[in-house]
Amino acid sequence: MIQITMPLGFLGTVYREIRQALVDMGEMFDLLHQPAEIQDAPDAKPIKVTGGEIRFENVDFAYYPDRPILKGVTLPVGAGQKVALVGPSGSGKSTIGRLLFRFYEVTGGAITIDGQDLRAVTQESLHEAIGVVPQDTVLFNDTIRYNIAYGKAEATQEEIEAAAKKAKIHDFVMSLPEGYETQVGERGLKLSGGEKQRVGIARTLLKDPPILLLDEATSALDTQTERDIQESLDAMERGRTVIVIAHRLSTIVDADRIVVLEQGVITEEGTHEELLARGGRYAGMWAVQKAEEEAEAEAAE
Ligand code: ATP
Repeated sequence: MIQITMPLGFLGTVYREIRQALVDMGEMFDLLHQPAEIQDAPDAKPIKVTGGEIRFENVDFAYYPDRPILKGVTLPVGAGQKVALVGPSGSGKSTIGRLLFRFYEVTGGAITIDGQDLRAVTQESLHEAIGVVPQDTVLFNDTIRYNIAYGKAEATQEEIEAAAKKAKIHDFVMSLPEGYETQVGERGLKLSGGEKQRVGIARTLLKDPPILLLDEATSALDTQTERDIQESLDAMERGRTVIVIAHRLSTIVDADRIVVLEQGVITEEGTHEELLARGGRYAGMWAVQKAEEEAEAEAAE
């Protein structure tokens, strides 16, 4: 994976880095050609998150005018619910995440959080309310303490350790000769995919946002590591509103609702059981993944 520090130098703020983490590398250079930054409305107010209910109401979106990406997407996510987005590559799943952060402006319809239109609130407060656990956690060339506390500079050592314990990375950190002062990143200790993801989870726990956006890794982790991490993810998700951009369906069977997106349109939604019973697109995707997993398991024997 390309280290993200260098090309991001020009971008500046942390949220652009997160946006970066949500786009794939092939698209990264498109960011250079982006239109002017989105500005806060003159009378923008800090968002007040009460329950964390998210609503996409008839949302249209296009990166370029002649190429619509999302078409009339209506997606309500109740406070404390977990909704998973699935669908083929390029169907618009990550775009929904980027719009929730207001990295781009919807071209039609509206997105609200607890009834407040995203265009009416300050971006700073919006970004504080949403935690992102991206596919590939960005590590800075600094200490592991800095990397966990990133986004909450005033965090105390106790808070950092509590978050690291919940993310199950504390024992690993303590096993390093310099503990939390160990340098990581490009010029320091290279962390494994699982360790990096735990740093990401600890970072999010420390930030304690009411809303979570999980951009699930495609295949970065082995099955055992993934199972271990799932526990930390479950703990993090409790009591928050969660949108998961899912690639492996096995991790989202417990979601309150699964939404299938195809070419920017919601084509199916329901629980895992409902969608399997329906025998449609999701059921087909599930059958394919099961067959692939079984083939992998056989090959591993
Ligand atoms: P994947 O599962 O492969 O991550 P996805 O469902 O998340 O795919 P998106 O990243 O939302 O898909 O992309 C939806 C469409 O928008 C794709 O056709 C993509 O090429 C296009 N797209 C994404 N980002 C940009 C951008 N910055 N500028 C222009 N087009 C973009």
